Amino acid sequence: MQSPDDNASLGYQIGHDDRITFVDSKWISFAERNKAPELTERAIVGKSIWNFVAGREVQHLYGLMFHVARSEGREVAVPFRCDSPTSRRFMELRVAPGQKGALSFQSLLVREEARAYIELPDTGDRAPEALQTICSWCKRLHLKDDSWVEIERAVRELGLFGSARLPRLTHGICPDCRSEIRQEIRTLPDR
Ligand SMILES: [Zn+2]
Repeated sequence: MQSPDDNASLGYQIGHDDRITFVDSKWISFAERNKAPELTERAIVGKSIWNFVAGREVQHLYGLMFHVARSEGREVAVPFRCDSPTSRRFMELRVAPGQKGALSFQSLLVREEARAYIELPDTGDRAPEALQTICSWCKRLHLKDDSWVEIERAVRELGLFGSARLPRLTHGICPDCRSEIRQEIRTLPDR
């Protein structure tokens, strides 16, 4: 993946029925640069956003964010990571309410740190043999000792160097990100 431009803001909108109604030109060129044909305008406008959100718990939290933005009419902002093999990208997702239940999404690059090349794991959720959970927000991996660690450390601790394939991952959320998001949507009770 290439880096988005400085101050890049990638945006899209959904209607009251959660279907994607609009994708901005930066998003489209980002998808093209990253050779992600499944994310081009023609491929996603009209589709439900839920087709693109992996993991039950992650969907639940997105649902809560949508609910807060719509019912309270306020913007909700949460941090997330969108790394490339050579950089850590600290992003912010802003969900803002519009007319008649519409929501607009902006992904902003907050800062970027270079790192030594690392192969990123496949985050497909299809694999029944998925062994590791990855936090959808900060991209840390859940280890057996219940710690959540950066991918570099996970690769080291799991002895993945030299193995043919990285493990399949399943999407979830770590306790730090959960509490941060809970704080952002603070009107809702804890689970
Ligand atoms: Zn996290």
